[in-house]
Amino acid sequence: MLKRILVFLAAAIVLLFAVILFNTFRVQSIQSNYATNPAPVLSQESVQHFQQAIRIKTISFGDSSKLDSSAFLGFQRWLVKTYPLTHANLTKVVLKKYALVYKWEGKNLQTKPVVLMAHQDVVPIEEATKSMWHVDPFAGEIKDDFIWGRGTTDDKINLVSIFEAVEKLLKGGFKPQRTVYLAFGHDEEMGGTGAKAIAAYLKSQNVEAEMVLDEGGIITKNKVPGMKRPAALIGTSEKGYLSLELSVEKSGGHSSMPEKETAIDILSRAIVKLKDNPFEPKLTPPMLGFIEYLGPEMPFVQKMAFTNIWLFKPMVISIYESSAGGNAMIRTTFAPTIFQTGFKDNVVPTVAKVTVNLRLLPGDSSSQVIEKLKQVIGDERIKVERLSSFVSEATGVTPTSSYAYKKVDEIVKKTFSNTVSSPFLMIGGTDSRHLEGISKGIIKFSPMIDPIGFHGIDERVSLESYQLAQWFYEQLISGLD
Ligand SMILES: [Zn+2]
Repeated sequence: MLKRILVFLAAAIVLLFAVILFNTFRVQSIQSNYATNPAPVLSQESVQHFQQAIRIKTISFGDSSKLDSSAFLGFQRWLVKTYPLTHANLTKVVLKKYALVYKWEGKNLQTKPVVLMAHQDVVPIEEATKSMWHVDPFAGEIKDDFIWGRGTTDDKINLVSIFEAVEKLLKGGFKPQRTVYLAFGHDEEMGGTGAKAIAAYLKSQNVEAEMVLDEGGIITKNKVPGMKRPAALIGTSEKGYLSLELSVEKSGGHSSMPEKETAIDILSRAIVKLKDNPFEPKLTPPMLGFIEYLGPEMPFVQKMAFTNIWLFKPMVISIYESSAGGNAMIRTTFAPTIFQTGFKDNVVPTVAKVTVNLRLLPGDSSSQVIEKLKQVIGDERIKVERLSSFVSEATGVTPTSSYAYKKVDEIVKKTFSNTVSSPFLMIGGTDSRHLEGISKGIIKFSPMIDPIGFHGIDERVSLESYQLAQWFYEQLISGLD
């Protein structure tokens, strides 16, 4: 009997391996194939334009009252002066004083328009990091074939490249097939009131866009483990943003005779419970797409895991969970960010409050997440309130079968040689989330290769990236059908 069981087990194991290997070897690339068109030489003039754009300090300080209106108005004047054909041929609307929308009417008004986005604002330089920069962050210096400065990667490269492409196409007498809108918010880093106004304006014009393209995923040569070819991560969805305040009130008293449980104890316990019971990990459609599109391109072991996800899902999830960045891709995350309580060393405080920030996976609504959080805490004494400052649900998911995804994928291949591409979940926020009512084809992708110092020190992007970004937008606009 035992022998039979062993034989049966051995047969089952052999069969399992056979299935795994069969799947691994059978799987075929689902990458689209387009020949790369060599990019035109980078013009000195366009490099100077990028440098000039960096020198104008369009900073979002996190408090709109600090906005330097002369910088933003100066930026607008600079655009008018630098891109005369664009301003002569496209109609421009200014919203909320600083947000810009341009309309370039297409030849075929039966087709739906396309919206190309970027934001004008940049994040400030943190006081403590000022001395750590190797260049003046607002000089637009060129060093080691990179252009350096705040906003080079986020996101003036996109803004300037769009203008360069449009201006060049106009010079050649080009008119796009579809109507193209250019939309540039001025406060993306503060939640995007500009983008909201842009969305409302486009809605009032009855615009239903086939594609909205905004900043997002990038091309990376080294950030996808195991991948030997450059990978273009084409954002198809973005996580939501929710901040909550948890608070407890309990009579305090003197710390010489503390009660068994104080407000601080109750709140601390709740935080520990929440840390110990993270939200369920999930492979959302962008993650599954990532696995489906990049799996076949990977070395054997990763390919085996990705093509047999029915079996290796727990292993794949545990690999993602092991890093903060990976973990954020597969679950709604929770982070306490501000703790407020107490005022004197010998007084037990009556009130304790903590602010927690959550980033929501597509499919996890804020109300579901709040419910789950209350359940885990399981303590009626803790009040849970939404902080109204800035809430956004996770966005919908743009399918890979959409015109928008396929077009961006095509132009990626036509611009960046030897590159593979895949859908991608954006962890951070972009202005394009406000355009959900305008389009079902929202793509979050910045056509640049491994930028450095995003929101940090020595922010910079290669001149090669800038050259290819211009080429990407030129081919995109001229390739709209
Ligand atoms: Zn940005």
